[in-house]
Amino acid sequence: MRGRIAEAAARSGRSGTAVRLCAVTKNVPAARVWDAWRAGLALFGENRVQEAKEKIPQSPPGAEWHLVGHLQTNKARDAASLFACIQSVDSLRVAEALHRRRAPDLPALPILVEVNASGESSKFGVDPGALFPLLDRLAALNRLDLRGLMTVGPLSTDIEDARRSFALLRSLRDRAETLQGRALPELSMGMSGDYPAAVEEGATLVRVGTAIFGERRDA
Ligand SMILES: *Cc1c(COP(=O)(O)O)cnc(C)c1O
Repeated sequence: MRGRIAEAAARSGRSGTAVRLCAVTKNVPAARVWDAWRAGLALFGENRVQEAKEKIPQSPPGAEWHLVGHLQTNKARDAASLFACIQSVDSLRVAEALHRRRAPDLPALPILVEVNASGESSKFGVDPGALFPLLDRLAALNRLDLRGLMTVGPLSTDIEDARRSFALLRSLRDRAETLQGRALPELSMGMSGDYPAAVEEGATLVRVGTAIFGERRDA
């Protein structure tokens, strides 16, 4: 898989090390997180706070954990201490909750804003048209450190649909950098079915579950 990431990165004129692999461990027990850690994986993603709260203490202490699923504001306190990054900030409300809950002795919490780049009604994420006003509001929340954008590709199995969503996320990020006058280096996009296309379109983080751990029994 690292080979395929490196090849896709080369096609976009980048090195494979410009792309980090986030192993998504939802419904995967801590014992298998240890296996993945021993195989060289160091970054893990969870989509539920409750599951992460149980699993992280049983997992390798050096591992880095990101939240990749929708956050409910009543879980913001746990999320703000469990995770090194919240990739799935999808509203001002969620951002404000994390800002309030981030412990004062910790540095500002790295976040990504999740964008619904495919326009599918089933998806979380802010609409592209609402993104720039939201980013303006986030600038006032000094306990958060905005690092970039995240999206979940479309349900369509046509890879060109996925590619269009990823290219849109990248252009939104480029525009946001200009408007905000600062770097937003991270683009989290691509999962088991579409990560090579995402890397070709500029992903810096890919979130892969099934292709690493096999099919999961979704709870
Ligand atoms: C489950 C999940 C993934 C990984 O999906 P796979 O298709 O198993 O690779 C990535 N991102 C998010 C937000 C997820 O919930």
